[in-house]
Amino acid sequence: MKIIAVGRNYTAHIEELKNSVPTEPVIFTKPETAILRNNEPFYYPSISNNIHHELEVVLKISKVGKNIEEKFAHKYYDEIGLGIDFTARDIQSRLKEKGLPWDLAKGFNGSAPISDFVSKSDYDLANLNFHLDINGERRQTGNTSLMIYSFDYIISFVSQYFTLKTGDLIFTGTPAGVSEVKIGDRLVASLEGKEILDFEIK
Ligand code: MG
Repeated sequence: MKIIAVGRNYTAHIEELKNSVPTEPVIFTKPETAILRNNEPFYYPSISNNIHHELEVVLKISKVGKNIEEKFAHKYYDEIGLGIDFTARDIQSRLKEKGLPWDLAKGFNGSAPISDFVSKSDYDLANLNFHLDINGERRQTGNTSLMIYSFDYIISFVSQYFTLKTGDLIFTGTPAGVSEVKIGDRLVASLEGKEILDFEIK
């Protein structure tokens, strides 16, 4: 099982980090050991002093495929959820300066908490509202209509490089509003107003 993630998929987030708009999706991966399930706490690691939350819609791949055409991509996922793409921004900044890969900044233990998954058929995927509250305060608000690359385009694109397997997860990019988390914070993420992820930083 693998985790594939898209960087820079919402224009407002690109602007807040002063990045350039990509001409094709920015893709990175996380190892399976990044996953936290069932609202397990995130233990703040000693490797970083500046970990940011990035709330994202996550797709769960439902069958094996490669070189998937965009028009057929919808057949390869049945369920969606929310996840946090935790990012060690201090490490990422150092790596970006040197043009080095982001793995250490993105793939550390616990860097991918995920919610339970729900049937995509209950939602309008092109107009999906999601948000993140920290300690009861609204910190990130997103809508999938603001994505640069759609779910189906992302699946088509990444499947040219990686064979997608059942159970693989795709993090589809974060909207604006990323910021630091601290030990003691409680993160609650909601999809269309329904809370589906709720965990603490320890
Ligand atoms: Mg992200």
